[in-house]
Amino acid sequence: MLKSKLPHLPESIFAKMTKMAIDHNAINMSQGFPSFSTDQELKDLLSKAIQEDNNQYAPMTGILDLRIKISNLVSKLYGGTYKPDGEICITPGATQGIYTAIQSVVQKGDEVIIITPAYDLYAPAIKLAGGRVVEVAMELPSFSVDWNKVEAAVSSKTKLIIVNTPHNPSGAIFSEHDWKQLEQIVNKHDLYVLSDEVYEHMVFDGKKHLSAASRPLLRDRTFITCSFGKTFHVTGWKCGYCLAPEPLMKEFLKIHQQVVFCVNRPVQHAMSAYLTDSKNYLELGTFYQHKRDLFLELIKDSKFKFVPTPSTYFQLLDFSEITDESDVKFAERLTREFKVASIPISVFMNGTDPQMLRFCFAKKDEELIEGAEILLRL
Ligand code: PMP
Ligand code: GLN
Repeated sequence: MLKSKLPHLPESIFAKMTKMAIDHNAINMSQGFPSFSTDQELKDLLSKAIQEDNNQYAPMTGILDLRIKISNLVSKLYGGTYKPDGEICITPGATQGIYTAIQSVVQKGDEVIIITPAYDLYAPAIKLAGGRVVEVAMELPSFSVDWNKVEAAVSSKTKLIIVNTPHNPSGAIFSEHDWKQLEQIVNKHDLYVLSDEVYEHMVFDGKKHLSAASRPLLRDRTFITCSFGKTFHVTGWKCGYCLAPEPLMKEFLKIHQQVVFCVNRPVQHAMSAYLTDSKNYLELGTFYQHKRDLFLELIKDSKFKFVPTPSTYFQLLDFSEITDESDVKFAERLTREFKVASIPISVFMNGTDPQMLRFCFAKKDEELIEGAEILLRL
């Protein structure tokens, strides 16, 4: 019998809840993807790229035009300088960027600090690299990071700290203070950083996303991962990118080359053309803020308690006034009996259950209305 490398890995909660939503004909507010149509202009750009015969392998790091656009965008928004040649790589979604960054850095016996609730990709990738996962829990209910606890978790074996801002599932965003604390720790202990910033353009209420790309003190030791799937409502196109200084990118590319070699070429042409108009990403925050506000206004008289999420397209709802059930059981029952699917967040925090479910509001307004009507009945 084949010996499993990840014997205890459960099925992804996103696959599980989306399947349940389909099986029970429920509104799917679980897995994070939009239910509305992709912009016709972007779809036309993809057709055009295919018709113009951009259908063979792309360069390993991605088409140059797209890398130049990304370099300009990062410098304009965050002030960071990343060379299109040697410091930017197009990846099949942020997923592969994260996996590859972790494999580039982590060796057998190394420890990696993750901050929980943590996105479910990080820990298995660390284990596959032979590393040990060290979890530091966020402070609840604020979902803030206690940097003293992070520093206390650093040992002589620590190699990497993974951070995620804007944060899935809470929507918490790093402040200037957070970045300064992280800088101080990683410089003092000589650590690498992976900054997962896939929700960079979905920030609300006049707040701002602060990127690792604007931190000169982190530049030499940091990988940043981003997702066009999230930004342009095309999660199924699986396209994103990684930014890293040359010495780190050199190691990243050795693994990228073996894992995928290159990314879907016509999609890269479409992304590159679509990036020309900055409103395609700069207006994303306003767009999703409207959806968040609609959803929260609709459920304001329900028994769920909430703090409006400052970012992402996820809203946490506290259900402690409704039931004592575990979040997993309640999410399953909501899907089966009430026909609305969500994500239990205990799966991102080693079983700790703050009695909160995550609802994705990247949905058509009519679905938000229908979903809210169900939640009001509880
Ligand atoms: N990081 C986080 C925090 C996410 O929520 C997701 C899901 N999109 C990813 C990474 C993966 O992004 P992609 O779909 O581009 O692979
Ligand atoms: N990032 C998405 C979420 O948090 C899920 C992506 C996936 O299904 N792997 O819902």
